Amino acid sequence: MLYFIILTQKCNLTCKYCGNQPNPDIEPIEPTYNMKTLKNFIQKDPEPIIAFYGGEPLLKISLMEKIIDQIPAKHYILQTNGIFLHKLKPKYLHKLDTILVSIDGRKETTEYYRGKNTYDSIIKNVKTIQERGYRGDLIARMAVSEKTNIYEDVKHLIELKNPKFNHVHWQLDVQWDSPPYQRYKNFDEWVKKYNEGITKLIKYWIQKMEKEEKVLGIVPFIGIMKTLLNNEETELRCGAGINAFTITTSGRIIACPIAPEFEWNNIGDIWNSKPKDLPYKVTIEEPCPTCDIYSICGGRCLFANKTKLWGIQGFKKICNITKHLIHQLEKTKPTIKN
Ligand code: SF4
Ligand code: SF4
Repeated sequence: MLYFIILTQKCNLTCKYCGNQPNPDIEPIEPTYNMKTLKNFIQKDPEPIIAFYGGEPLLKISLMEKIIDQIPAKHYILQTNGIFLHKLKPKYLHKLDTILVSIDGRKETTEYYRGKNTYDSIIKNVKTIQERGYRGDLIARMAVSEKTNIYEDVKHLIELKNPKFNHVHWQLDVQWDSPPYQRYKNFDEWVKKYNEGITKLIKYWIQKMEKEEKVLGIVPFIGIMKTLLNNEETELRCGAGINAFTITTSGRIIACPIAPEFEWNNIGDIWNSKPKDLPYKVTIEEPCPTCDIYSICGGRCLFANKTKLWGIQGFKKICNITKHLIHQLEKTKPTIKN
């Protein structure tokens, strides 16, 4: 199973959609448990995958190194804002199977959300690790909000030659906060444009397959298409509470990494819990299980499903975005099968 380990709650950036305001009353800023307890817990899983998470985990490089040295895992993953990526020593860099780097698309989009000079620093550092021989999966991890042009921003990242991202993935800046829509002037208008951009992006994805025999690593398309082609049912795609768990700085175990303050998210702790007892302690609730596309969508996001911070009306607006994406992909299924 996958364990996100929060190395620190601090971050060196203050992005528009996050704000980076860790609250020490909810969770300590840095881990307070000892390494032996963490190791004892993780070793009970025969095939653990460890993902370093924050805040910005590379603010605690020495702790990350210590965990890699002391706790064996099937894979190590890093989710980072990329600003300190060049500081990773080769020995540890090459132990990482996957690095997810937060970058929001073109320079102007990324820097609008993440701050001045962030784009250049990220690109430079990602180039550096590839020059140092990093050959693991490199994923550009976007947050998508009002300023994003989904077609242009995804295309920009997937077409970059140096550095070369293997995959591009994104999450929408929706249902994270209350009051709703605060970072959108006209949310419904934005949705219209976003959906048009998705249709165009799918067309581009298909053209690349047809003309160049290339399947571009656009993660949401690949994931849903796999479900459609294999006629298989999916569960919550992020795996929160199913096969993905977060170890907070106090040693609690929660299902979704972004919500340590919510009671529904608590599922155990590293002193008393066993990995095999964690799955399905917290599960998706209505309206998802009775939705007609639940087996393809999987319920989208446990956090949004449990909190409904934008109310049921806001929740359903995002379902319409999901439905648009799925229906557009469904239309391309015969071409892809061919
Ligand atoms: S489309 Fe909406 S209601 Fe349906 S499964 Fe997905 S998130 Fe749940
Ligand atoms: S539940 Fe939502 S916020 Fe939490 S990890 Fe999954 S997709 Fe992300």
